[in-house]
Amino acid sequence: MTIRVHNDLTGKKEDFVPLRPGRVTFYLCGPTVYGRAHIGNLRTFVSFDVIRRYLRYRGHEVTFVRNVTDVDDRMIKRSQERGITIDELATQYIELFETDQRSLNILPPEVAPRATAHVPEIIGLIERLLQKGLAYEADGDVYFSIEAYPEYGQLTRQSLDEMQAGARVEVNERKRHPLDFALWKRQKPGEPAWNSPWGPGRPGWHIECSAMAMKYLGDTLDIHAGGIDLLFPHHENELAQSSGVTGKPFARYWLHGAFLNFEGEKMSKSLGNVFDLGELSRRYDPEVLRFFYLSVHYRSPLSLSDELLQSARSALERLKNLQDNLRYQVEHGALQQVTPDEADLLSRLGEYRRRFIEQMDDDFNSAAALAVIFQLTREVNLLVARGGSAELARGVLALFDEWAGVLGVLQTGPNPITDAEVEALVTRRQEARRAKNWSEADRIRDRLAAQGIVLEDTPQGVRYKRK
Ligand code: AMP
Ligand code: ZN
Repeated sequence: MTIRVHNDLTGKKEDFVPLRPGRVTFYLCGPTVYGRAHIGNLRTFVSFDVIRRYLRYRGHEVTFVRNVTDVDDRMIKRSQERGITIDELATQYIELFETDQRSLNILPPEVAPRATAHVPEIIGLIERLLQKGLAYEADGDVYFSIEAYPEYGQLTRQSLDEMQAGARVEVNERKRHPLDFALWKRQKPGEPAWNSPWGPGRPGWHIECSAMAMKYLGDTLDIHAGGIDLLFPHHENELAQSSGVTGKPFARYWLHGAFLNFEGEKMSKSLGNVFDLGELSRRYDPEVLRFFYLSVHYRSPLSLSDELLQSARSALERLKNLQDNLRYQVEHGALQQVTPDEADLLSRLGEYRRRFIEQMDDDFNSAAALAVIFQLTREVNLLVARGGSAELARGVLALFDEWAGVLGVLQTGPNPITDAEVEALVTRRQEARRAKNWSEADRIRDRLAAQGIVLEDTPQGVRYKRK
């Protein structure tokens, strides 16, 4: 079975085939840290956390990079209002973002690079664009020239006229074409600036993601993701800059998450209809919010309302009650014989497991995967009501733990590495050893060791133990 993903580059659902088998490179555009993230932003971060967890569950080793945008107009304005540096502002909101990340059980990325720590890489990329004739300098600014790049528009598959109508293009007499965009912005009075071959200034927004994605993940990534508003112009521009420089595809799969709406409109700071997690968690556990996000497919819009949050809360409670009952049963049902009905269900747990995978393989359909969990819950509840065996309880709980590790809800312990992940890594280490690629084999061993997995090479093969 292969994972199928909806790729916005082609507009189609496709088989997911990473560039290097078993190893996925994944870049997600991260927060702009001029204020606390709202729960609309957080929907996007949870959606891609589930996708990342699922890829791991299916045996891929995922390197996940999520940047921090710590310089832009909003950062500068807010820091000036507050009389602090953009660095102080960023530090404050990065901490808050990390707190929200923990509350929502979003796994931290492997790398969380900050734009301002990558100015040399950004300048290097702009220089290459200038050398290739894809960019031009104008009075201390540098712009990408879309007319010099005929493939411009390949991600959104639109004509220049359509793009111009769809974008809020910045009017600026220094630009040769209205859709040209800034790679480097010269310093305005009172603004923070870095030295560059074009004088003091700061990077444009799009170029920061290209520079950081390619630095940490290589010229061609497997997955590039963000909220749907980033599709155009941000991702179109990232693609043009990156492929323009390397001549290679920039990302094989482009994934975009739909909005969280409130009262019929996108939740957004500029509309003023936002809630943050601090406000929401006075009434709902963050786990309820995460569960609510999962109740629809990540590409479908979701409307926030008290009614829906309350039904998410009671649905989650039903699942947690079952877990509690089963735990009780493990402790007290040791003498209980497995009934024929239970034996039948035990023999079908693998089928439930397969159906969950089938739904998640279908473009990470968490809503349909939850329906599978609820179906099992109904079946088990009927059996538990008649008093059940420890064996059944153990079997169902183990399956719930597996699902919890993917969805990031219903988890009873910390995020452990699953057996499937360990086995996939052990197999790859074996392959590396057969190919005499000792450094790769050691790297995998160290990676496992960091997660408390100890490997033992025995004459019968490799065994592993959890510390
Ligand atoms: P920002 O911090 O503004 O750069 O946004 C961070 C992420 O949140 C981006 O991927 C946006 O696409 C996403 N985003 C913004 N508003 C919403 C919303 N209402 N629902 C879902 N995602 C959103
Ligand atoms: Zn980006």
